[in-house]
Amino acid sequence: MILVTGGAGYIGSHTIKELLRDGQEVVALDNLSAGHRELVLCPEFVEGDLADAALLARTFRRYPIEAVIHFAAHTSVPESVANPRKYYQNNIVSGLSLLDAMVECGVNAIVFSSSAAVYGDPVRVPIPEDHPCAPKNPYGRTKLAFEGILHDYGVTYGLRHVSLRYFNAAGSDPDGEIGECHDPETHLIPIVLEVAAGVRREVQIFGTDYETKDGTAVRDYIHVFDLARAHVRALGALEGGTAAPAYNLGTGRGYTVREVVECCRRITGREIRAVDAPRRAGDPAALVADPSRAKRDLGWEPRFTTLDPIVATAWRWMLRRR
Ligand code: UDP
Repeated sequence: MILVTGGAGYIGSHTIKELLRDGQEVVALDNLSAGHRELVLCPEFVEGDLADAALLARTFRRYPIEAVIHFAAHTSVPESVANPRKYYQNNIVSGLSLLDAMVECGVNAIVFSSSAAVYGDPVRVPIPEDHPCAPKNPYGRTKLAFEGILHDYGVTYGLRHVSLRYFNAAGSDPDGEIGECHDPETHLIPIVLEVAAGVRREVQIFGTDYETKDGTAVRDYIHVFDLARAHVRALGALEGGTAAPAYNLGTGRGYTVREVVECCRRITGREIRAVDAPRRAGDPAALVADPSRAKRDLGWEPRFTTLDPIVATAWRWMLRRR
């Protein structure tokens, strides 16, 4: 059985769907601070917080857990700049509580939700996994610090671990069953689509003076369904002892903020008001993955390689929710 922390969140809930499709048994754990119970498709659900060591010990005793996929974390770059202690507390201190419970209960395999934010401003693009890591914001620092902790727990306690460094997760379940629900929303694509849906007046374009083709920031948007599939593969590689410590998960292709807005206009057929705004603190100019290691080791390749189906699935979900 697989324990999925943060199983009621965006990427966690989509990964549970893929694990179930793969025939795995799953128990989800989530404190529902940002997650939604109705997104959890597995029958076993534990409501609680990773900081609660007694709850973790009970959970590991109650279920025959062989491996953990650890999503539970705060995920907003701007919020981490405004409130770093919240990020260090949850993403590191609560994460350590999980690792200690695993060591104590003899569960020795973990797939960790890491981020391209560990790299900071890239010195070369696309970014391979051995690119220097110099995060630009507290969020990225929590992810890099936790990767370091996993390394040390691996050396000393025999914890098998793999960190998946997501580029920009986007889109929703192609079946339309589950999707992205952040409140408040801070991510670009759902914000642009909220403007299209009429629930937001305009989108601000944060930074128009970057050294990119149109001056706006470049990101590698990866469909959440493809991310979910990568977790199933990573788990297999971890169990088979063939996983590298870290994998980039992206498409290898970047889009500017203006290109995202344009794509959303085209897919929705709606007007979308966009206004130029200053750069957002902590934002690198361009983050694009070199995903070749994941292809080679995990046999993983994204099925959605362009922005259109990412925006289309996100839009369909937004229309369904409203
Ligand atoms: N962005 C923007 N307007 C918004 C939200 C985001 O211009 O309302 C930009 C943001 O500055 C970044 C890119 O869109 O360059 C992607 O931001 P997001 O928050 O979606 O993901 P991040 O790359 O920060 O993880």
